[in-house]
Amino acid sequence: MLKKFIGMIRSGTKSPQRFSLNIIPRDQHNVSRKQISPNALKVLYRLNSAGYEAFLVGGGVRDLLLGEHPKDFDIATNATPEQVRAQFNNCRLIGRRFRLAHVRFGREIIEVATFRASHQKADDDAHSAATSDSGQILRDNVYGNQEEDALRRDFTVNALYYGVKDFGIYDYAGGIQDLENRLLRLIGDPETRYREDPVRMLRAARFAAKLDFNIEDKTAAPIPRLAQLLLNIPPARLFEEVLKLFLSGKAEPTFAILRELDLFKFLFPSTDQLINEGHPYAQKLVVQALTNTDQRINADKPVTPAFLFAALLWPATQQLLLRYLEDGIPPIPALHKASQKVIDSQVKHTALPKRFSQPMKEIWELQLRLPRRRGKSAQTLAEHPRFRAAYDFVLLREASGEDLQGLGKWWTEFQEGDEKTRQKLQQGQGQGEGKRRPRRRRRYNNKPR
Ligand code: ATP
Ligand code: MG
Repeated sequence: MLKKFIGMIRSGTKSPQRFSLNIIPRDQHNVSRKQISPNALKVLYRLNSAGYEAFLVGGGVRDLLLGEHPKDFDIATNATPEQVRAQFNNCRLIGRRFRLAHVRFGREIIEVATFRASHQKADDDAHSAATSDSGQILRDNVYGNQEEDALRRDFTVNALYYGVKDFGIYDYAGGIQDLENRLLRLIGDPETRYREDPVRMLRAARFAAKLDFNIEDKTAAPIPRLAQLLLNIPPARLFEEVLKLFLSGKAEPTFAILRELDLFKFLFPSTDQLINEGHPYAQKLVVQALTNTDQRINADKPVTPAFLFAALLWPATQQLLLRYLEDGIPPIPALHKASQKVIDSQVKHTALPKRFSQPMKEIWELQLRLPRRRGKSAQTLAEHPRFRAAYDFVLLREASGEDLQGLGKWWTEFQEGDEKTRQKLQQGQGQGEGKRRPRRRRRYNNKPR
């Protein structure tokens, strides 16, 4: 249907991609105003009436063309961030690396970015452009026109614009054709584009899973070789990306692609290593955690990054814990030591804000406490604010092949049972693992053997 409007020119050996603008008129595509957030429309109309160009771009257009519901609506304009701010009293400018305007309508934020151009236009203006030795763009605030903006975007399918002046789709990079072929293709030379921003490699994995697209060969090929460039990305940004990768309802296929492209190792190195070494349940645990997360998200149930990180980092933590226990450190201090060590090395890769690492540690600590269910302690444990997550974590560990001697079943019955059942269950613990052993005093022997 759209094919007759596609006039992408592919010629010449030196520049494999050459582009020409195709405008798909309103009656030739399925995007309609009704599907667009009224707030995004307000921003578009306001900028237009102030004399600026303004277009919906990125995921908003891409997902609508695919018949999906966009997660958010991004806008691109030729107005500078300051000019955008002048048009709205609910507007804030954010970002240094990539400066943009956030226009807020209650809980919805419409992101408005000024058209960007290539850095050759920067005139050595260090305030607007900066690039590292590895080719990484450190600051990307050189403004340009719509065509330049299109070619600075990552994938062809993310470089489609929709305007409310003529309701046409503007395609500078062959995105419509790739959309029809369900192909994820970087604009320009892939290696250069990954060097400019290594996070694009993660975005390739994320969109391939989210959209169920193939990654074009040339776009995929350099990734395993360049994956280590992720080490140059600030951990705070990688943490945000990890949330997008694993909290979008397609975490499980995303993980498979991340592993295939050798990217996972630069996000969770300790977990990746254990999986590669054939750890008995690390891979199963991660896959199961991600599958559960997907199911919860797709059922509109809440999920917490703390639980996800608890699962992603448990195999490494447990391995250390066992080592410390063998060294004679008591369980809880051993766990604290192991968690701290794992967290310290993890935060060199992805940040892990306290509001998530704290509950994560509590979930882990409860793994040691849940087996002690004698007397009143079961009820006390069940009232712990992190009990539910810790119980789910027990089930997850069992589902991944850890033998916890029926711990999950016991807690399921305890929660579902009436007072009598509970008492019976607790009595059953009288002789079992829940029974506190008499404290053995540790003997220290300083004499040389
Ligand atoms: P979604 O919002 O569904 O996750 P999206 O494509 O809208 O997907 P955003 O992160 O919201 O992704 O970015 C909006 C648009 O900005 C993208 O579609 C793309 O055109 C551009 N963009 C975002 N990040 C980059 C990047 N690292 N390099 C180049 N272009 C980018
Ligand atoms: Mg978006």
